[in-house]
Amino acid sequence: MNRNIAVDGPAGAGKSTVAKRVARQLGLVYVDTGAMYRAMGIFFLERGLSPEDEAGITAACRDAEVTIAYQDGVQQVYLNGENVTGRLREEAVGNMASRSSVYPAVRAKMTQLQQSLAQRTPVIMDGRDIGTVVLPQAALKIYLTASVEERARRRFRELEEKGEACVLSQIQQDIRERDYRDMHRETAPLRQAEDAVQVDATDMDIEQVTERIVSLYRERVPQVAQREQEGK
Ligand code: C5P
Repeated sequence: MNRNIAVDGPAGAGKSTVAKRVARQLGLVYVDTGAMYRAMGIFFLERGLSPEDEAGITAACRDAEVTIAYQDGVQQVYLNGENVTGRLREEAVGNMASRSSVYPAVRAKMTQLQQSLAQRTPVIMDGRDIGTVVLPQAALKIYLTASVEERARRRFRELEEKGEACVLSQIQQDIRERDYRDMHRETAPLRQAEDAVQVDATDMDIEQVTERIVSLYRERVPQVAQREQEGK
């Protein structure tokens, strides 16, 4: 039986933090699809491509090989054989990923990679189009969201903790722009799948969101709950 979970939602809603926890509790493999778009972003930046250059980006897709592996359960992303995991969160990389992910050639390549991963093992996969395009048959689909203000505050605190200078209003503006691009692109825009459960995390903490998803999964996939009870 299909045991996959699809988690979609806008940037900064807490998808990856929550998905990692759910993965541990339910024994699923966590797949971060944003990291794959980010690896493609690194490739385009290294090639000196402009995010507006659709023809150049489309042609370059042929030469980029993104693969993932797991080290102590943590996803590692390789770009043409080089581990680029440490560079994925750079601002310029995120920006290029957001802009280049609107192109159909980039999406087709990433979708194929994501679907082949989910065929090998049960996954919890997070992104923007997982429930709608990548895993339309997922056993559980979650649309995780939170207000722009709350998402910006969380990002602000994260950057402050890292000692990086940042301005809250700028972060809010950036989040609004990313939301707009994700929701209005022609190919695989971010939207809630009809059969997805919406979880609004504005007033919920990580624990509460994790618990909600785990309990929804146990309701939907009773065999899993039974095997856990039997200690298998
Ligand atoms: O989730 P994260 O911010 O790491 O994703 C990086 C970028 O990749 C996002 O801005 C989003 O536009 C894009 N993305 C996407 N589809 C996915 C995952 C991410 O378009 N499934």
